[in-house]
Amino acid sequence: MVYVASEKRYEEMKYNRSGRSGLKLPAISLGLWHNFGGINVYENSREMITRSFDIGITHFDLANNYGPPAGSAEETFGQVLKQDLAAYRDEMIISTKAGYYMWPGPYGEWGSRKNLLSSLDQSLKRMKLDYVDIFYSHRFDPETPLEETMMALDYAVRSGKALYAGISSYSAEQTREAASILKQLGTPLTIHQPNYSMVNRWIEDGLQDVLEETGTGSIAFCPLAQGLLTSKYLNGVPEDSRAAGSSVFLSEDSITPESIRKAQALNEVASERGQSLAQLALAWALRGGKLTSALIGASRVSQIEENVAALNNLDFTQAELDRIDSILQA
Ligand code: NDP
Repeated sequence: MVYVASEKRYEEMKYNRSGRSGLKLPAISLGLWHNFGGINVYENSREMITRSFDIGITHFDLANNYGPPAGSAEETFGQVLKQDLAAYRDEMIISTKAGYYMWPGPYGEWGSRKNLLSSLDQSLKRMKLDYVDIFYSHRFDPETPLEETMMALDYAVRSGKALYAGISSYSAEQTREAASILKQLGTPLTIHQPNYSMVNRWIEDGLQDVLEETGTGSIAFCPLAQGLLTSKYLNGVPEDSRAAGSSVFLSEDSITPESIRKAQALNEVASERGQSLAQLALAWALRGGKLTSALIGASRVSQIEENVAALNNLDFTQAELDRIDSILQA
């Protein structure tokens, strides 16, 4: 069937400016780390991407190594683009990254110019694109001079292979330095992609100040703590979950009686606000407007729809925030 995007796609979503750049991102973006690989059912991946676009999610986040197998999420995305979304390319923000292990030998990972630019070319081929919108250094490389990594991002932008430059998981100090180098090169640092959720608040301790100071936006990955902050694990580990599946990033052992008890208590707060636990977690991450976007993952369309509905209630009372803190500190 020929896909035609919903005419209502821009009616509900909120769009936030990334730092002091010209780029706006949807408050909820979709990441393709899990569930879009060669091992997954293509039609489900396709449905999640097109449904997202229909409800205003204009931003899709990838990396060279997403799959499994590594690279296959970009191939899946390229196929959906070609099949359904080609006419909408200018309405989409597509990102990819390089830095984690991708191919053998000294050039297949980290932050050298060789790794970043070869990897970007590979990503463009897999997605059958001329350019990506955002290209990230996926992680700080302690061995490569930061100037070299930033020059590679600058080159990616100048050569037209990327429109904006980003970094992921860099510390506050590394971010300050990266922003300064990029500024000197004439390419602004548009966005930082850190891990951030109720259970991982490291960015509040310095990084957010640097982002504000340098005019850099931020998009939080794992805002649902890979599913821990959803109704998924309220009563144990269901079979159709990341924790029960083959992902090495969330083991069944991480679902402890304590994490379940906390999720149940947070779920009560969510219910009182008329939200699901996932909606509470996303509203919490977006509270106060510091974050440009919350970058969710999903295994089915219904999760994406539920998560986007979090935007209906982003306000918190101080009493609610205190209650959330006391549940998590207990
Ligand atoms: P989340 O914290 O959003 O977890 C997503 C998982 O939670 C889903 O796969 C699903 O798990 C479950 N879930 C989501 N919504 C619901 C719901 N409403 N009800 C029940 N369960 C739900 O994020 P991810 O860990 O997937 O990461 C998001 C994105 O962030 C990635 O795709 C990637 O783009 C980016 N990322 C970047 C990193 C970096 O280094 N820069 C590192 C990690 C991620 P289930 O499969 O069990 O249904």
